[in-house]
Amino acid sequence: MAVSAPPRGVETSPLAPDLRPREPQEEPAAERRRAPEGPIKVVHAFWLAGMSCDGCSISATGATNPSVEDLLTGGIAGLPKVILHHPVLSVEVGEEFMHAFEVASEGKLDAPYVCIYEGSIADERIAGATDGYFSAMGDKVVEGTDRPFPTAERLAAMAPGAAAVIAIGTCATWGGIPSAAGNPTGAMSVMDFLGKDYRSALGLPVINVPGCAPIGDNFTETVAAILLFLQGMGPLPEFDELGRPAWLFSETVHRGCTRAGYYEEGTFAHAYGEPECLVEIGCWGPVVNCNIVSRGSQSHMGGCMAVGGPCIGCTMPGFPDKFSPFYKAPPGSAVSSTASRAVGFGIRRLRALTNHRLNREVRWDRLYDGDVPSGWGEVARPGMVDRTAHYFYDKLQFLGAKRPGRDDGRRYHTDLPPRARGMSVPHDVSEPADES
Ligand code: SF4
Ligand code: SF4
Repeated sequence: MAVSAPPRGVETSPLAPDLRPREPQEEPAAERRRAPEGPIKVVHAFWLAGMSCDGCSISATGATNPSVEDLLTGGIAGLPKVILHHPVLSVEVGEEFMHAFEVASEGKLDAPYVCIYEGSIADERIAGATDGYFSAMGDKVVEGTDRPFPTAERLAAMAPGAAAVIAIGTCATWGGIPSAAGNPTGAMSVMDFLGKDYRSALGLPVINVPGCAPIGDNFTETVAAILLFLQGMGPLPEFDELGRPAWLFSETVHRGCTRAGYYEEGTFAHAYGEPECLVEIGCWGPVVNCNIVSRGSQSHMGGCMAVGGPCIGCTMPGFPDKFSPFYKAPPGSAVSSTASRAVGFGIRRLRALTNHRLNREVRWDRLYDGDVPSGWGEVARPGMVDRTAHYFYDKLQFLGAKRPGRDDGRRYHTDLPPRARGMSVPHDVSEPADES
């Protein structure tokens, strides 16, 4: 457990949770690892907010596939209905809101529950030294007085009985911005707080859905996959060695980036707003695990590169310190972008040549000697280099393959009339060679 002793001079207070390293928990009994028998009608989801900006809540509520509404209304076939206890979205307030948290903490809830933690976990001993707190939900009685109940302490009480603990967003998964160098709070992630030996009631370590803010669909899809497992309708989804949903975080940003073609051809943006690859203005996409390029930010739209933003590695455990300063190109990109430039210079020109050829109809080449009948502008006819290059290109393209067309040696009229301006149409192309 990555929790150190309190800083020098910091005393613990009655408010501070016990952050001392815990004894490894006993291996859960085999039957506890299995999903409950029979269909589950409801699952409670307790949303705990630590040191967060609420961005994770906002992105989760913007999810569409599935949506939070789908989960809450039981609108997905086979999935249980989710009862969400959320400090902002729930209609209950005060004691009425906190009641279910208390019941779950005492192990008296009559249905399975999951804990979702948003924000990082502060070392409450630091605030406790001055009788304060960093983040809390509800009250607890200390020496006859109602005192704020630190969220971290609440998580510590609820986590052992939870079917799963899901950390949402980079603050909860890896500590995020609140844990950046120089922070005064001792902020840490959920897995740092609960420790390596933590297992949920079903035997699961902490599940991590990172991102700052995370893609809402990544979160709701993960929840749906876990619920399918709880329901006995699906296998336990695959998680990587850091507890990330493997199917969402195994690829790098760069592999799916819409600007990757520019990188390959060695052309780079040097100012925001330019369309090329952003690596020279600070993009870390080639070494970052994130699926925003394929999934978009919300409703399959947007995402960092789509809106011109370089990747600053917000899904990564090393964020933000290992990616700063954000305005500089990553040192490693000097090697790869120089190599791309060297190779891309030639590749780019060859592709431009072929692109010019492919932007002409076959008819324009064969009947009009490359003249393009466009009223929008003059299109250059293929020059000698173009013709020569594509003579050989064409031979290679169909080497050992069949050309499109008919095998009987005859050529047929097309349905298109000859060009209105009267250019003659070669007899041997437009007329049948033999009508008999
Ligand atoms: S913008 Fe970033 S992720 Fe996209 S191609 Fe360039 S380096 Fe790769
Ligand atoms: S592309 Fe980079 S900055 Fe954008 S969401 Fe993914 S990891 Fe974060």
